[in-house]
Amino acid sequence: MPRIKTTAVTLVSLAWLTVSCGGGRPAEQADLILTNAAVTTMSATRPKAEALAVAGDKIVFVGTSREALRRRGEATRVVDLGGRMVLPAFQDSHVHLVAGGVELGLCDLNGLRTKEEVLAKVSEYAAAHPDAAWITGGGWDLPLFPQAKPRKEDLDAVVSDRPVILDSADGHSAWVNSRALALAGIDRNTPDPAGGRIERDPRTGAASGTLRESAAGLVEKLVPELGPVDFIKGLRAGLALANRFGIGSIIEASAGPGILDAYAALDRSGELTVRVLASLYVDTDAGLAEVPRLTALRDRYAGTRLKATAAKIFVDGVMEPRTAALLEPYADRPGDRGTPLIEPAAFDALARALDQAGFQIHIHAIGDRAIRMSLDALEAAGRANGFRDMRHHIAHLELIDPADIPRFERLGVAANFQALWAYADTYITDLTLPILGPGRSRWLYPIGSVARTGAVIAGGSDWSVSTMDPLQAIQVALTRRGPDDPPGEAWIPEERVDLQTMLRAYTANGAWLSRDEGARGTLEVGKAADLIVIDRDLFAVPASEIARAKVLLTLVGGREVFRDPAFGR
Ligand SMILES: [Zn+2]
Repeated sequence: MPRIKTTAVTLVSLAWLTVSCGGGRPAEQADLILTNAAVTTMSATRPKAEALAVAGDKIVFVGTSREALRRRGEATRVVDLGGRMVLPAFQDSHVHLVAGGVELGLCDLNGLRTKEEVLAKVSEYAAAHPDAAWITGGGWDLPLFPQAKPRKEDLDAVVSDRPVILDSADGHSAWVNSRALALAGIDRNTPDPAGGRIERDPRTGAASGTLRESAAGLVEKLVPELGPVDFIKGLRAGLALANRFGIGSIIEASAGPGILDAYAALDRSGELTVRVLASLYVDTDAGLAEVPRLTALRDRYAGTRLKATAAKIFVDGVMEPRTAALLEPYADRPGDRGTPLIEPAAFDALARALDQAGFQIHIHAIGDRAIRMSLDALEAAGRANGFRDMRHHIAHLELIDPADIPRFERLGVAANFQALWAYADTYITDLTLPILGPGRSRWLYPIGSVARTGAVIAGGSDWSVSTMDPLQAIQVALTRRGPDDPPGEAWIPEERVDLQTMLRAYTANGAWLSRDEGARGTLEVGKAADLIVIDRDLFAVPASEIARAKVLLTLVGGREVFRDPAFGR
């Protein structure tokens, strides 16, 4: 990054020239001046400051309040922040912004805590939508059901006249009623599709109501498709939520044409209030034929705040239903190591071709075997094409074999963690520890170990899998406890990280991952005014209180995209 540092230094020196050679001529007038603040710039040259000024879409001053006020003109808004914090706007480096937004308008089961609550919500939603031919939606948590296997009979009891399909919160399982199974023609003789599993009643062999991975597609293909209006509506809802949490840029985790069209439409109309790097969904079954198709999409979706320069590959499923690919068998199932969604040789060939075509590769990998396969594929691509500055990254990283931890830094692969998951909730205690056993469970979400190697750590929510709020994820990374828990014993305390590491993951490192580090990600003169005001200085509160902090103001390109009503003008 030496080029960027040079640019910043040049701009700073020019600003000095303006001030010192102007013979009393006032400095450039600012539109907004924030004074008396705890400004954390995330820049090495001036990590802390007291004030910041914005003109147009850029930061024009970072320094003392007294000097900042020299940029005050008649139209300048000056806000005394009384010690509140100013940070670069957050980047969420793994989020399904459109799909999550669409889900908000469907039967939304996120956050419900019992099976009874879930069924009551489904019943209520069906009653409120009598004309819907299908009941769709999702967000149910796997631990609410024995063995993470909800049954069709429970859904039949609340909706029997229409088909129902509800995705799990992690998106890797679907719960269906008998009507949906009948329409899809799934009975005891239906074989499991490749890359999927139909859960069955152990006594009768009949489909019991839970479909894993590709098996959900047997029903999903019957659901009437969403139209462009649904996607745009969903994106608007997602944007509002993102800006409220201080997010000014994202990496869309998996984009197909419908999702890309929604981003492009709002980019054209000037309503895209986050900067978007879209990761193009790769159909791994199509293999190398995907490369020209993705290249055409990349060319087509280059907009003002939108680019589609990344390719997303799913290598395995998730841990709890044992669809994650492991190096050693699941503790309770001898011989079963889970099955990767792509063969190693095909993966290597695909990674090599995408790397050659200039795509940044964004990988979903959960189990230690999936992660090793990913590092192997990226290493093979580097050997074949030369290790260029590709900024490939692997998301989720639930279980990393210790031998693979140094490879991220060595290969220049960024580690994209969803730190909110790194505590002993029921997903871990009830569904993960029993199937992994104690030895390797030590290596669940090893954020600290990866950070200590010097690898680039990025942060993402995977919303709507879990909340988009970066402050909750940051707190969990520091405490390895639930975001609502009081101070106490950390889960795998060796893997805790410090606040600076996590703030960097959600700001400067995010900008780097999006290849925008020259333009944003730190608060420096000449960079975009993508910044947030938080109601307290995060460095001055205990780690267990970080998630209680509130974002009061979000600016993207100097434009206000969120303001808390409690924060006056
Ligand atoms: Zn995801």
